[in-house]
Amino acid sequence: MANSSGDVPASARKLEGKVALITGGASGIGECTARLFVRHGARVVVVDIQDELGARLCAELGEGSASYVRGDVTIEEDVAAAVDHAVSRFGKLDVMFNNAGIGGAGCHNILESTKADFERVLAVNLVGPFLGTKHAARVMVPARGGCIIGTASLASAVAGAASHAYTCAKRALVGLTENAAAELGRHGIRVNCVSPGAAATPLATGYLGLEGEAFESAVEAVANLKGVGLRVEDIAAAVVFLASDDARYISGHNLLIDGGFSVVNPSFG
Ligand code: NAD
Repeated sequence: MANSSGDVPASARKLEGKVALITGGASGIGECTARLFVRHGARVVVVDIQDELGARLCAELGEGSASYVRGDVTIEEDVAAAVDHAVSRFGKLDVMFNNAGIGGAGCHNILESTKADFERVLAVNLVGPFLGTKHAARVMVPARGGCIIGTASLASAVAGAASHAYTCAKRALVGLTENAAAELGRHGIRVNCVSPGAAATPLATGYLGLEGEAFESAVEAVANLKGVGLRVEDIAAAVVFLASDDARYISGHNLLIDGGFSVVNPSFG
């Protein structure tokens, strides 16, 4: 298995010739996935609101392989334009990765949460993937195929792991994934999502208010799978799998990447 920085031999590339759009691709999981997609032979459109990071990443990946587009996933015109850009720049759209998200640090505690905070988390983490799914389907249906992947969260399966708004958004994203898989299957379009546990990205370290070793040991303390630690590379590898023909009959699935945390009661350890 390739990591996000190693070369993938041509015979092992899983996404050769595919075109992917990655929202939230300038940082964290999205950035790592963009790098791994390109190593696997894909061309990627990175969509984000962090222009400097996104443009720098695409320059590094090379003009022929990556293109940055500023886009706010809560604005339908931005999402539609980003999808159209993928088609005009690279000729088609095979993979839509609805990954952009925010943590909702302002609404962890229900008594301190404001309606505005709650709605903002739903806008980015749920309405964003809805718009991405809608506009990806707009070009994938006539093309008679494609693959849509969302980044949900361990919070889709376990209560108390994140803010109320975040948990609601990610659980609803699983519902959107399943419903879209039901509707779009007849068009040859697969729809899945991944649900990672905590990996050190600006979103997660910001939400927990912990950096570096303090973050790693807080996560390790509650992990089911000990001594391993979740890396963004693990999540990117799962997304490559779901986007590839290896997963050609997998649809409507929420792939938990949590080391067994959500299914194991710690009392039985
Ligand atoms: P990150 O902060 O590194 O990346 C998120 C990216 O989304 C950023 O580049 C940000 O600019 C972008 N973004 C935010 N709002 C946007 C908007 N309105 N329009 C376009 N782009 C926007 O964090 P990450 O951890 O890589 O998060 C990626 C996804 O993974 C999120 O959906 C998050 O909820 C999910 N997730 C993360 C973890 C974790 O532990 N890191 C765990 C489970 C799920």
